[in-house]
Amino acid sequence: MIIGVPKEITRGERRVALVPDSVKQLVGLGVEVVLEAGAGLAAGFEDHAYSEAGASLVQSASEALGADLVLKVQLPGEAPGGHEVDQLKGGASLICFLKPLDQTDVTQRLVDRGITAFAVELMPRITRAQSMDALSSQSTISGYRAVLLAATTLPRIFPMMVTAAGTLQPARLLVVGVGVAGLQALGTAKRLGAVTYGYDTRAVVREQVESLGARFVELDLDTGDSEDAGGYAKAQTEEFYQRQRAELGKHVAAADVVITTALVPGQPAPLLIEADAIRSMRPGSVIVDLAAEKGGNCELTKADENVVDSGVTIIGHTNLPAGVPAHASQMYGKNLVTFLDHLLDEGSLTLDFTDEITAGSLVTYAGKLVNERLGGALPQTETASETSEEDAADDTQGEEG
Ligand code: NAD
Repeated sequence: MIIGVPKEITRGERRVALVPDSVKQLVGLGVEVVLEAGAGLAAGFEDHAYSEAGASLVQSASEALGADLVLKVQLPGEAPGGHEVDQLKGGASLICFLKPLDQTDVTQRLVDRGITAFAVELMPRITRAQSMDALSSQSTISGYRAVLLAATTLPRIFPMMVTAAGTLQPARLLVVGVGVAGLQALGTAKRLGAVTYGYDTRAVVREQVESLGARFVELDLDTGDSEDAGGYAKAQTEEFYQRQRAELGKHVAAADVVITTALVPGQPAPLLIEADAIRSMRPGSVIVDLAAEKGGNCELTKADENVVDSGVTIIGHTNLPAGVPAHASQMYGKNLVTFLDHLLDEGSLTLDFTDEITAGSLVTYAGKLVNERLGGALPQTETASETSEEDAADDTQGEEG
């Protein structure tokens, strides 16, 4: 089996799906790796490091996209040589962030081409899949990066300083939504010397916030049944959100930095901070809205823009991991290698549809949408080897013809 890694084409994307170490591990699993020359450069990995790790370098994206299995970071898009999905071999496989809930047109293209496509963001959040969980690894980087962005935008320093030129008060930083990114943001801000606060609707989060030396913000809200079986937040009523916005306002006003990350799976981001609350912050204050891609937690957020309103900067960056491409790629590559170790049997892809990890992350197979979370249904057969995928590809090509 040949695994292909093309250079990412999405604007601003500096990550790469595999780093040289992950290539070495994959070669050890009995597969070949072809990589488009220069694919790792923006992340700091040179071509010779990939060659030394056992990859073959190819000069064009189409050669990498023509492999049996293609690994990418971002979902496929329009490229100079045509849409990346159209450059995949019929019946080939693809693993990347697919955004299947938002970018349904790309999912449909994959269905039409008979591609076996996995969305890494649908990986079940179970202990067994922790090292394959790209959402977590990249959120960790986002949380860290959000704090650094805030620190360099804020016209004040984070730590308290007692100097001959006077005493500088520490920054107050509030994280709203303390999941993976939020916990990392709290830890990073604490290390930089900020006084940290965290709030989340899930009750279990209090202990985690306190273990990072932050204070848990108490709101007068009934959050009794706010976590689902998967550990995610449940959606609340509009009445709840109205009260939450009102209650949060005073804590937002007192903060120098607010980092928001609140998400509810499958839904637009809940609106938690209104324009009035933002305008009550001290001029120079900073909000980093990590939920920007899903509409944002703040009323004034604009995706991929820095909005300045009443002296408050609201940063709506939607791809913070791309700003730390070496480590973000290292973690992502590790996630993919662990996932492939799970999927490969003696160097070929072997799908067990009864397996929670495979069934949870598989989106398209044999010309069909097969993910239950997306309204599809898994194939009846229990396992599929590369041979049956080839059959599936032949079927699809037959339909197309
Ligand atoms: P997420 O990105 O879906 O949401 C971010 C945070 O926002 C969550 O903590 C959520 O509770 C919070 N939130 C939602 N609505 C809110 C509101 N109205 N007000 C305040 N906060 C709100 O979450 P995530 O970071 O992907 O992780 C969520 C949880 O999933 C983790 O904390 C953990 O319990 C679980 N998890 C498990 C594994 C695993 O076992 N493999 C891996 C990662 C995460």
